[in-house]
Amino acid sequence: MKRDLILVVEDEIDIAEMVTYNLERWGYAVQVCSTGEEGLQVASSGPSLILLDLGLPGISGAEVCRRLKGKQATQEIPILVLTARGHETEVAACLDLGADGYLAKPFGLKELASRIRTMLPDDPAGRT
Ligand code: CA
Repeated sequence: MKRDLILVVEDEIDIAEMVTYNLERWGYAVQVCSTGEEGLQVASSGPSLILLDLGLPGISGAEVCRRLKGKQATQEIPILVLTARGHETEVAACLDLGADGYLAKPFGLKELASRIRTMLPDDPAGRT
């Protein structure tokens, strides 16, 4: 059985661990990156979905979003933006760039689970 791989780009260790713990519990494979540069590298391996924090050290989440959505190899990967309060401009920029949705921190686990389910591409071949 092939599990969907979710790439988590998040520099806050507590949030990354909490999200990873729950994603694995829900049956997903998870890879965590703590910088945008690392996230871009791993994204080229084709995860099913990317959870992207906006406030990252080095290149910003918005810039990561721009690069991912600007490249043919990665533009189809759904991106769910994670953002702290007060980053409305950056969130809007990401949505304009093609991000598929966002969650404001602190977010609830049920909301996270539901967003991920609806954003994952359908698997017409079934999970065999
Ligand atoms: Ca952050």
